[in-house]
Amino acid sequence: MNYIIFDLEWNNAYSYAKKGFMNEIIEIGAVKLNERLEIVDTFKQLILPKITKKLSGRCKSLTNITNEELKQNGIPFADAIKDFSRWSRGDGNVFMSWSNSDLYVLTNNYQTFLGNLNINFITKYCDAQKYCMSFIERENNNQISLADCGEAFGIKIDTDKLHRALTDCYLTAECLKKVFDKDKLQNYIHDCDSSFFERLIYKPYLITKPVTDLFDVYKQELLCPVCKSKMVRLKDFECVNKSFRCPTKCKKCGITYWTTVRAKKTYDTVDVHQRSIEMNRKKAKKIKKD
Ligand SMILES: [Zn+2]
Repeated sequence: MNYIIFDLEWNNAYSYAKKGFMNEIIEIGAVKLNERLEIVDTFKQLILPKITKKLSGRCKSLTNITNEELKQNGIPFADAIKDFSRWSRGDGNVFMSWSNSDLYVLTNNYQTFLGNLNINFITKYCDAQKYCMSFIERENNNQISLADCGEAFGIKIDTDKLHRALTDCYLTAECLKKVFDKDKLQNYIHDCDSSFFERLIYKPYLITKPVTDLFDVYKQELLCPVCKSKMVRLKDFECVNKSFRCPTKCKKCGITYWTTVRAKKTYDTVDVHQRSIEMNRKKAKKIKKD
């Protein structure tokens, strides 16, 4: 079994077919580690972009990859994936990247260019950033950059060479070595079936129709924020900022509120959130009269 640490560089490009921007992969870098985290092989491939032939200024300055380099050494995405999957295949291999955004972009490109989002050669995945962050004490839950993590672990970093796929892989491997605990790492390794990839690229959205198959705003119990008892609705819901709002009253407390219900559709659930703010007296009186 091997660990495959991969890192992608991409160019943000406008796709006329998708009518929106997408991150198109222009380089795949990877290192193969054995079970003792020793590097046994490396992989590096430039990819000829399909959507736009010209790299954005930001991409060029971040990666130092040039248009000429891509033209000379880049190959189509499908061919690069074929090579990469052949190189990385192996029983129980665990794929890793620094934050799952690389896996997200890979899945997205796979779906766009190969028409399939189930990356069949990746069967186990671990977010190296999540694992490493569990060893760093922090005040907040913000993600930490690879360079900052390296620094926190006392690793010497040549910042000029960062953001080239292979260099970032070496640094990720160095970080892992500093905090390697095989048993603990197991808890961060996911099995990648098709629902894993579907969930990864699923975009949650706010439900804006009051009644759908998934959600019915009229079936929501509106609870008083003070005494938690059921309130009465004084008027119908109106849709405001992708939420449903209505005036409510708690008969027990005698207070009138604006109650807002927000329903967010995620991959497998609908998260419903409710909030009530006390209405000012004038407005409450007016609503009573209506
Ligand atoms: Zn109450």
